[in-house]
Amino acid sequence: MVKVPVKLVTWDDIVTWASTLAGKIIESRWMPDIVVAIARGGYVPARLLCDHMGINDLVSLQVVHWPSSAQVAEKAYIKYPVAQMDLNGKRVLIVDDIVDTGDSVLIARDHVLSRWPKADVRTGALQWISTVAKFKPDYYAYEVKDWVWFMYPWNLTEDLSNFITRIMVEEYKASGKVNWSLLELTEKLSEWYGDEILKVPVSYLGKALANLERNGVVLRLREGNVDLIKLAKG
Ligand code: AMP
Repeated sequence: MVKVPVKLVTWDDIVTWASTLAGKIIESRWMPDIVVAIARGGYVPARLLCDHMGINDLVSLQVVHWPSSAQVAEKAYIKYPVAQMDLNGKRVLIVDDIVDTGDSVLIARDHVLSRWPKADVRTGALQWISTVAKFKPDYYAYEVKDWVWFMYPWNLTEDLSNFITRIMVEEYKASGKVNWSLLELTEKLSEWYGDEILKVPVSYLGKALANLERNGVVLRLREGNVDLIKLAKG
């Protein structure tokens, strides 16, 4: 049974949504003086918005909320509070990729307003999950009703690494299994995350496993002529 449904997002989707979002903001006749990208998901959308709208000023705030793909931390927070900017009197557009719980954008907005109460702040995202979000961003390109985990093109390796880690840790807890062949892992990935995951180019699986090995999460062994991936803490 699929545990976390995922949907692969292409670069073309991103460019289309960013262009739609820019069109809506321009139509509203509220032109931001500065864009605040929420790190890290808001980087690419914010950069594209600046390009589409002719905005030069782009800064960033890091909100930590999803420590790993599809797993929520207890409380979202600003990792590096800003020191030296002055946004009072400016029209500030806060941008993220998606408003899911809504916590990240809300926290970023509160942070900006608490430091610069005279800022004119609005929020925008490529996607808004209307059925779960705590609030509706002022601008969005695309409303999502059925929750899925979107695999954005800038996050494929990280998503796969997190999914693999979760599979290996949970299966270890359930049955003590530590050694996995590539085929077993691929089958489990599609069982847990749906067949959509099989559309991710296979080279990303190699990158994810290499990162996991570098970070000491897995070891790679060869038994006979089979390559095995072993959970390091197993
Ligand atoms: P939020 O729950 O609205 O605070 O989302 C925080 C961040 O987590 C977003 O900016 C995304 O980078 C990531 N995220 C949350 N939900 C999803 C989702 N359904 N698909 C992909 N990324 C997500």
